Amino acid sequence: MATDKPKLAVHKFSSCDGCQLALLNLGEPLLALPGLVDIVHFAEAGPNSPDQPVDISLVEGSVSTPEDIERIQQVRQNSKLLVSIGACATSGGLQALANFANRHEWMASIYTDPKNIEVLNSSDPISKHVKVDLQIQGCPVNSAQVIGALRDLLSGVAPRPEVHSVCMECKRKAVICTMVTKGEPCMGPVTLAGCGALCPAAGRGCYGCYGPAEQLNDRSIADRFEQLGLDAQAVLRRFRFIANSAAGFKTASEGLRGDTDG
Ligand code: SF4
Ligand code: SF4
Repeated sequence: MATDKPKLAVHKFSSCDGCQLALLNLGEPLLALPGLVDIVHFAEAGPNSPDQPVDISLVEGSVSTPEDIERIQQVRQNSKLLVSIGACATSGGLQALANFANRHEWMASIYTDPKNIEVLNSSDPISKHVKVDLQIQGCPVNSAQVIGALRDLLSGVAPRPEVHSVCMECKRKAVICTMVTKGEPCMGPVTLAGCGALCPAAGRGCYGCYGPAEQLNDRSIADRFEQLGLDAQAVLRRFRFIANSAAGFKTASEGLRGDTDG
């Protein structure tokens, strides 16, 4: 039934569906969403009308195939605002690790007939192909952050992007520093806040899934990791993980001595 509420679509590109699942797992706050918007497309949840013009599109996943390029252009055309959600959509995701290798050699070593697989030479963030109005990081995203951003956009307020590092969230939540107390390498000092210091709060080091913080002292953290016993390859892999192609982490990894597998 048509209503005069703003229309929302949730689109999936090359991804594991984890960000959509994170939204679905939100529970009560998600139930408030239909009060704010008409969800016209969210195939994972039921509504399936991908070509409808909408006020806001949430886009999960990277652009990795020729078909993805055509589809994201269509989504852009149909959307007043486009928000990319998650590491895949904002930086290319884990699948962008292939950007550092010869992906055709990789495919030949895995598939018997790789010529039937149509992929681009790189796995790209959505913003490489179309204008993006807002990016929300994480693998998966913090759903409360997504709902907060939706509320802001629907009220005509510009969402305030995070600029601090995960360390700041640890301090705010009185989480004991895993690097100082346990000697565990932690990417928190160079990783964007937003997750609520999920990993350090659970007693483990951050592995950088939110991508680079605004002020990135990558050389110092790399030196500290070496002092804690990581070899050059292990340090490199800390930057070349989920958000490997996010600008700050990509540049940092290219400057590290263990860069021998690209
Ligand atoms: S960002 Fe992570 S959780 Fe979200 S779709 Fe990509 S791999 Fe899955
Ligand atoms: S602590 Fe780091 S790895 Fe863990 S959820 Fe937050 S940003 Fe991601």
